[in-house]
Order: sequence, then C-alpha cells, then structure tokens
Amino acid sequence: MIVVMAAHATDEQIKDVEQRIVDWGYGVHPIYGEARTVIGATGVPEADKSRYMESLEALPYVEQVIAILRPYKFASREIHPEGTIIDVKGVKIGGNQIALMAGPCTVETREQTWESAKACKAAGATILRGGAYKPSTSPYSFQGHGVAALKILREIADELDMRVITEVMDLRNVDLVCQYADILQIGTRNMQNYDLLREVGKVKTPVCLKRGMSAKIEEWLQAAEYVLLGGNPNVMLCERGIRTFETYTRNTLDLSAVPALKELSHLPVIVDPSQGTGRRSLVIAMTKAAVAVGADGLLIEVHPHPDKALKDGAQSLTCENFGKLVEDLHPIAAAVGRTL
Ligand code: PEP
Ligand code: MN
Repeated sequence: MIVVMAAHATDEQIKDVEQRIVDWGYGVHPIYGEARTVIGATGVPEADKSRYMESLEALPYVEQVIAILRPYKFASREIHPEGTIIDVKGVKIGGNQIALMAGPCTVETREQTWESAKACKAAGATILRGGAYKPSTSPYSFQGHGVAALKILREIADELDMRVITEVMDLRNVDLVCQYADILQIGTRNMQNYDLLREVGKVKTPVCLKRGMSAKIEEWLQAAEYVLLGGNPNVMLCERGIRTFETYTRNTLDLSAVPALKELSHLPVIVDPSQGTGRRSLVIAMTKAAVAVGADGLLIEVHPHPDKALKDGAQSLTCENFGKLVEDLHPIAAAVGRTL
C-alpha cells in the first residue's frame, strides 16, 4: 500500500507513520517529494491490510492510503494522478511543452558534436544527446570516447545553454557520468540490469529508461520501479522500438506504448524514432506520429555528415532535415494541445 502524506505534514508526523509501518513488520520506502511525501509499505499481507489502511487514514496528517495491486506502485498512475513533470535544470519534461533532445548518436569529435549541437539548438532543441559510452553488439565496433566525450558534451551544452543526456552503462560510472550529464540514459540492453537500476536510484539526476528491446510494458514499468523505489523520483520512459519478426526496419517502434503508458503511469514518455526505425525517412514520419500520440519528448539522432558517421549514420538526420522536421511538428503539436 501507499500512504500519501498531507501537504502540511511535518517531519515528525512523517516519521510517526514510518514507525507505525515498521512496527507492523513491513518494509518502508519513503519518497520525499517537493510538494509532499509518499510512503510505500511493502510486504503487507492481504489479511491485515484493510485494518492498517483504516488506522492510517484516520490520522489528520495522512491524505490518502491506496492499495495497489499492480506489480509496480511508485510508477503507477494511481499514486500520482496528475502526471509527473521533471525539471532538468529549468527544462521541464512532462508538461505542456514537448522536450526536444537531439544530437549525434555518438560523440566522435568536438567539431562534429558542435556542428550537430548548434543546428539542434537553432531548431529548438533544449537537450543535447550524444553517446560517450556506447553499447555495441560487436566488440570490434566503436565503443565511444568515454570521459573525453563527456567533457565535450558538457562544454558544448554549457556554451549553448543546453542540458545533456548521455548513457551510463556501468554502475561503477554512475557518479562520474553524473558530474557531466543532466539526464542519465539507461540503454535498451540494460533495462533489466537491476544493479545499475538500483545505483541510479540512489542519485537525483533524472533517468531516461529505455525500453528493453524484448520487454513487455509491465516489465518496463517494474524496471522503472527499481529506480523510484531507490529514492530517485525523476524517471522518464523512452520507447525505442522492440524486436519483432520484421527486419525491414531496425526495430518496430511501438507507438501504442505511449498512450498505454499514459494510462498506466504518471511518468513522462519519450520516443526515440532513430533507434526505433533505423532509417532516416522513417524517422521523420514516426517523429510526427509520436507527437500525435502524446509523447512528452523526442530523442533524435542528428549528424552534420551522416554518410561519415562512425555509428548509426543511416538513421541520423542531417542538420537541415532536423530543422525542417521541427517546423513541420508545430502544427501537429498544436492539434493535440501541445507546444514545442
Ligand atoms: C542510442 O541512443 O544511441 C542507443 C544506443 O540507444 P538504445 O539503447 O535504445 O539502443
Ligand atoms: Mn544510436
């Protein structure tokens, strides 16, 4: 069950509720939000649940006690009906404005990253993407420039007043990547790396959790639950395509996941049509569709010279492609009551 504390609850009152739950023999998982605190109680047997719920509900400093039957609690919409807005140093994700995250798949050189970032910013992107640690299927292909790339991303983003999203692959690097990044990307291959999820749950840097390429929506939300349960409330979900029998596209971008997640969860939903399709022309069409189905943000690969890209050139938009695409998105966003 989840105990939603009243907005005016004091620290002592919060401690009191936590103590009652502990005394009943259950696990306590508080999330201290800015507006209010919610406390998850885990392991409550069905037989005693309604009695405990009633006694907590009688307290004047408890607003509501909710029994949640789903396998994820903190990620569920019941606990947070109005939808979460994540503040990334002033850039909001999950509000009316759709967040544009764009940049190269991978930081190759300062020059390449700068050219991409400059064009993305000019088109309206507020968040710079770029891989420093690249998960590669082949151990022979480019693995990323690591710390050197993190530094390039940070410097360029600061110069352009952008935020940085980049992948962290290894739990030993979480603190390091946090020094340079504003959003930690958890890649598709790591969606069920539970040690890594627990580690990013310990920090406050927002996390963009990509969907595992074979993950069901419920498994994905349970992965998000690991991060939330750890105490990091700033989680967004990113649909990036799943494996199906189709091979014409790199992945099958499951856009129905966007409204499905909106029903099930309060977490912002991002769409990555680049990994999602693998083909430039399809990226453009599916980005428009993503806006139409209610995405809160877009993660798009843009390269100044896609034909020379070390990674993912075929799915990278040129700087011109991206500028034109954003222009075309404005009326679509307006039609669904959003801005860009
Ligand atoms: C990427 O964003 O470049 C990437 C590797 O993503 P994914 O984990 O979705 O494949
Ligand atoms: Mn990529």
